[in-house]
Amino acid sequence: MAYRYVFGPVRSGRLGLSLGLDLTGDTVCTMDCVYCEVGRTTCLTTQRKPYVPAQDILDELAHWKEQAHQEPDYVTLGGKGEPTLNSDMGAVIQGIRRIFPHTPVAVLTNSTLLHDPQVRRELALADAVLPSLDSLVPAELRRVNRPHPEVDLSALAQGLLDFRKEFTGRLLLEVLLVAGYNDSDANLALLRQFIAGLGADRVDVVTMTRPGTLASASPVCDETLARWRATLAPLATGRPGDTTTPRPGGARQFSTDAASAPGQGHPPRPADADSAAQERVTASIERRPQTAAQLAQALDLPPEAVRRALEALATQGRLRTTASGGDAYHALRQG
Ligand code: SF4
Repeated sequence: MAYRYVFGPVRSGRLGLSLGLDLTGDTVCTMDCVYCEVGRTTCLTTQRKPYVPAQDILDELAHWKEQAHQEPDYVTLGGKGEPTLNSDMGAVIQGIRRIFPHTPVAVLTNSTLLHDPQVRRELALADAVLPSLDSLVPAELRRVNRPHPEVDLSALAQGLLDFRKEFTGRLLLEVLLVAGYNDSDANLALLRQFIAGLGADRVDVVTMTRPGTLASASPVCDETLARWRATLAPLATGRPGDTTTPRPGGARQFSTDAASAPGQGHPPRPADADSAAQERVTASIERRPQTAAQLAQALDLPPEAVRRALEALATQGRLRTTASGGDAYHALRQG
């Protein structure tokens, strides 16, 4: 089965082995960030609706589990767009709990819809919420995140504060810096004041590690990153050493031997194995550019299988490879 909404798992610094669910099915977002790894937003909107019905996503997830893949450390709502735009988000989270009763659920969000009490109620069903907030300077937010005109920065900030009061789970804030876009001292001062009153369990300051949508968008230098981290990270009020690492025993590996997997009677023939590897590589790089080594680790595939899958995609003209920081990042060619 080719999965449309289930992808990964990918190895995430904050969530361990994270199985992704795409709730929008396309690049549907309230923002069009210059650093976005999945490409330009094709539908810039603030309208909530069931872009992908909950049942379609849950049917795929149940099928994925039946294939006896290992249980991930997290099931994470994210994908190609902003997951809170899907008005079925609450039903998706409840459905995940039935399919993976022992696996925590995380949601990645750009925070733009947190002003909506219904969105906050649905998000509060998750175990961990990972909001981003890149700038509190309105002009910077417009440049780095290029939001829908209806996105209001003060409502966004207030929505985050309100959500923190209502949400008893783990709140892991991320600030992504782009050189010359949102790394001003004014932004640092505003974020410091805001985060000091937020009560996040963890604050991560990161910069671009993969190509974004604008050639002029580039990472900040190590010195800037270190300075911002030293200022903002200690403002987290969570448990010391909270790294959102995998649960003990959780980081098991996929079995590449289908014969050992319950529910599957035959080991795959090499051609089937190649085609299965290509499907998984395709689904993974469609959401996030990755190096061959990252793909091999996240998908638990032999490096040779990843290389063959990438070669096949290149031959089909479906691969876009970009150099960044001395590494080659592979993405699916759009259009
Ligand atoms: S980075 Fe996230 S918030 Fe920004 S455009 Fe991409 S999906 Fe939307």
